[in-house]
Amino acid sequence: MWPPSTELQFLKGVGPKYAAVLRKKGLFTFKDLWTFYPRTYIDQSYNKKISDLQEGENVSLQLEVVGVKSQRISRVKSITTLVLSDGIEVLDAKFFKSPYRGYFKQFEAGAKVQVSGKVKVYRNNFEMVHPDVAFIKKDSKEPQQSSAGLVPVYSESESLNQKKIQKLIHTLFTLIKKDLLSSTESPWLKNYVPQEIRKHYKLLDHFKSQSLLHFPNPEISVKDYIDRRTRAHLSLIFEELFVLEVLTALRKNFFTQEKSKPLKDGNQHLKTFLAKIPFKLTSDQESSLQDIAKDFQKPHPMHRLLQGDVGSGKTLVALASAYVAIQNGYQVVMMAPTEILAQQHFENALKYFEGLNIKSTCLTGKIKGKEREKIEDGLKRGSFNFITGTHALFEERVEFERLGYVIIDEQHRFGVHQRQKLKQKGLTPHFLVMTATPIPRTLTMTLYGDLEVSLIQSMPPGRSPIKTKIFQQKQREELLKNCLSELEKGRQVYFVFPLVSESESLDLKSAEFEFKELSKYFSHYKVGLLHGKMRPQEKDAVMTDFRKNKIQVLVSTTVIEVGVDVPNATVMVIENCERFGLSQLHQLRGRVGRGKNQGFCFLLLGNKFSKESLFRAKVMEKTTNGFEIAEEDLKLRGPGEILGAKQSGLPTFQLADLIKHQKVLIEARRAAFDWVKKKPHSPEINLIKKDFRNKLELINIS
Ligand code: ADP
Ligand code: MG
Repeated sequence: MWPPSTELQFLKGVGPKYAAVLRKKGLFTFKDLWTFYPRTYIDQSYNKKISDLQEGENVSLQLEVVGVKSQRISRVKSITTLVLSDGIEVLDAKFFKSPYRGYFKQFEAGAKVQVSGKVKVYRNNFEMVHPDVAFIKKDSKEPQQSSAGLVPVYSESESLNQKKIQKLIHTLFTLIKKDLLSSTESPWLKNYVPQEIRKHYKLLDHFKSQSLLHFPNPEISVKDYIDRRTRAHLSLIFEELFVLEVLTALRKNFFTQEKSKPLKDGNQHLKTFLAKIPFKLTSDQESSLQDIAKDFQKPHPMHRLLQGDVGSGKTLVALASAYVAIQNGYQVVMMAPTEILAQQHFENALKYFEGLNIKSTCLTGKIKGKEREKIEDGLKRGSFNFITGTHALFEERVEFERLGYVIIDEQHRFGVHQRQKLKQKGLTPHFLVMTATPIPRTLTMTLYGDLEVSLIQSMPPGRSPIKTKIFQQKQREELLKNCLSELEKGRQVYFVFPLVSESESLDLKSAEFEFKELSKYFSHYKVGLLHGKMRPQEKDAVMTDFRKNKIQVLVSTTVIEVGVDVPNATVMVIENCERFGLSQLHQLRGRVGRGKNQGFCFLLLGNKFSKESLFRAKVMEKTTNGFEIAEEDLKLRGPGEILGAKQSGLPTFQLADLIKHQKVLIEARRAAFDWVKKKPHSPEINLIKKDFRNKLELINIS
């Protein structure tokens, strides 16, 4: 018997040396190796000449190595080119990064290789960037994996080449097949997707699909294999997403089993609070509040996402709903990603809760000693009922008397499962998660799939879209004049720089240096400096002065990126804007245009910028719509980077891609939620619970 958990050293051909190499790749068990799917495929029976190539096509060619050349493009970067030829013409295989150390040493002139990748034309020359290169042995007698020329390509490393991986997988396959013959109950055969669903979507069996990935069916085109569009791929992709959604459905179910006491008189309390607000709520703010008020009446805690673009007025919804919970005798926590933001929420609370007999406080990491003890003591005894703060609020020793409602602002900065931390303390408060990251629906579904969603799509009235303009360095004087004219109207201005202080290696402007320059230029106004290296007290003081208009020009770094709200500030200048990503630019721009006055965003390009950074600036000039910007960002960077894969709690898949497989995700979600509802105790669900127990986080599902 060879269960999937068998250690790889027991596989014939592995031994201690290869076991170590495999471990380095994260492969420990038989199962790890079996699910180590090919990175791509090549068709060895296919042989084109370089002159037949067309730009953009994905091909595989058999060529001869002419030589390797390397070219330095900056102090730290270089491009290595593997020059290849078919005897007539030349193709450059370009590498911006070596696949592994010593990779290029293996290519001697005259060696025959199979190179596969996407064809590009650069300066009239054919090239491939980071193609797959495999050696072709002249008189190779090694068995091919499939009879035709379709061969899997695995991600290799120095001491573990293609041939070796293929061989190991072949050995493993033979073993597993023996195992299958001896028992129909073999764990290798288990399916997470129930047969009924597989049948409906015409999906293949789990093991069969896996086998077809390692040993491709020669009748299927290499293109379908490369694009991961074969039925086998689809079946496994569906399975990955199905498992994810079953877990999400289970978690959501679990929430509805938690108990909490319904809150009373929601609408009446809302009325009291809103009577004090100097403006009318937008209809989306109103309906979000209604969603929350309804949730509060249920006998189990709310788990809701409030999504709305920067400046759409989420804070007010949060405070109004907090008021309802406080009037029901609960403590409410509002957590922010930065101290500046926590402080701002605190000040807002003081303002909006004035005269309502609410005791607010703010707890951040900077508060220490006696002062901290006093606050912590107050939380424990219940003498504070509205608490804003940062991560510090989640620290083990912080205790509450009657925590009933937790609001998490700008959730993407925390990691999705932060809210679970409170559960560890045995608390089941209502949860409101607020985010301004405008992300496509399928990503929302994956990240926040267990939450109900309220959307704020409309902006408060009287806002006109921010005017955005790109400036070159030679136009800096003009830009400064524009700022002056806004200052003369009594408005305030932000200048954002990529660096805090000078750097020798980077030709970028720094906040500290430019602070001095700008102080001279705007000598009739007060210029302030704010950056992450300052002490918290200093930061607070500067921010408070800016809010009170004692400072008119705030020179800063991205510490002000998220959430900062000073409606009288109308100009956002972003220097070296080529250094910032789209969503960051959007967040920064969101600091202005928050009041009734026209907002401006000036993007100043540095002396050197890439095509892509110019494109980003142009996107910003073209639209202020957060969703459009998010779509562009997604195309440029992919989902992992946008949300910060590690932080975001975004699951990692072997085959599924949340953008490419949106349709599959939607189907898998539907099927999973249905199945969990219909057959919560089916063998498939039990299997998923067992195998993915750790993914269910801290929730025990009986
Ligand atoms: P965000 O959704 O980015 O957190 P905020 O809650 O900071 O937005 O609100 C942005 C600005 O809009 C704040 O100055 C706030 O006082 C103001 N605001 C919020 N709701 C309304 C409204 N209904 N009418 C007018 N101004 C509003
Ligand atoms: Mg906000």
